[in-house]
Amino acid sequence: MITLDIATVLLLYQSSLLVGAAVFLIARRRSSTSGFGMLAAAFSLVGTGGVLAGFGEQAMLPKAVWTLGSLSAGVVGHGLLVLGMERLRSGRLPRGWRLLVLYPVVLWVVAGITDFHLDNGLRATVFHLNGALCLLLAARIVTRLRRVEALPSCLPLQTVLVLSGVSFLMGAGAILFVAEFVHWLALEFAVQILGNFAIAVLIYSVATDRAERQLALLAELDSLTGIGNRRWLDRMRPSRLSPGDSVFCIDLDHFKRVNDRFGHATGDTVLVAVAATLRNLKRPDDVLARMGGEEFLLFLPELRSADTLAVAERIREAIQAIPFQQQGTVLGVTASIGVAQVGRPGERWDDLVHAADMALYDAKRDGRNRVVHAVRAPQDPVPA
Ligand code: GH3
Ligand code: MG
Ligand code: MG
Repeated sequence: MITLDIATVLLLYQSSLLVGAAVFLIARRRSSTSGFGMLAAAFSLVGTGGVLAGFGEQAMLPKAVWTLGSLSAGVVGHGLLVLGMERLRSGRLPRGWRLLVLYPVVLWVVAGITDFHLDNGLRATVFHLNGALCLLLAARIVTRLRRVEALPSCLPLQTVLVLSGVSFLMGAGAILFVAEFVHWLALEFAVQILGNFAIAVLIYSVATDRAERQLALLAELDSLTGIGNRRWLDRMRPSRLSPGDSVFCIDLDHFKRVNDRFGHATGDTVLVAVAATLRNLKRPDDVLARMGGEEFLLFLPELRSADTLAVAERIREAIQAIPFQQQGTVLGVTASIGVAQVGRPGERWDDLVHAADMALYDAKRDGRNRVVHAVRAPQDPVPA
């Protein structure tokens, strides 16, 4: 059977904290997520507390200095872990975070009165209970993070934080209630070592998950107008269409002339304003995307067929009413709109969009600045 030597285990424990602190420092340089500086400080402090205790046990420091020094570093270090996690979650520190400064002060006052720090068992119990409390608080912060950003590394991180916290609690129990607790303590610190490595890697992963998610979102956003692009539409559109679902293909009329006459920058301003108008007009569940150039697609789920033309007409009028003026000239931007609506269940998305596109083509041919509803030939029922 392997016997865990407590001195070796403690050395490895401190090493795992220092490795964790190094990971956080690297993350701080590379990631836009905040909190890593504080997390590095947290791991470094807890590790420094352990190193101080190691020196003390070899009689290299006066007992009052190393006992209080190592306990303060450990307690404040774990407190910083909570603050760092909150910063990582919300980008801000919780209100009243400065109260952490009072933490060691209270400890010193109580130590001055009771001398509890000179008792190895009591000191270790305080360190363990505080560690358990802080790790469980950190796990709770991850719960709140998961509610807003369900990142893949959140659940493993939360699990490891809870396990580390519980292991600290069991360590405190062993110190208080088991006579031969050193063996149990060695086992507990072995668990903490694994926990520290896992916590460092998983917190780093939270930041990389977040960055990946932001990149994926950016890849689906049109950088000029801020609305979704084709990719976004592909993700947002329903996999099955229902009767009433409608597609409006909206294309600005003679937009090339706006660019030619007033310049590309003015053209851009027009596109941004049209996108904003469409965004304001759409219902919350409607999906709006810029399909490219000066063409937009609006998907309106389950629109009453009696309303379809009126809604499209309202959009056309709203675009025409946008007050564009350039060099004293009114730009008079208009749009043509092709409308297609699902008439029977099981219709395919591509067919619906194609029908709206054809209707748009007709609107252009018939003189622009108008709405055309696709006339759809009755089709064979779609096989189930
Ligand atoms: P039609 O009424 O037949 O739709 O004519 P149109 O001029 O609107 O259509 P056409 O396809 O001939 O020209 C589209 C123009 O849109 C050409 C292109 O320079 C311009 N365009 C495409 N993307 C952008 C953009 O991001 N910004 C600006 N300013 N112009 C753009
Ligand atoms: Mg056009
Ligand atoms: Mg076009």
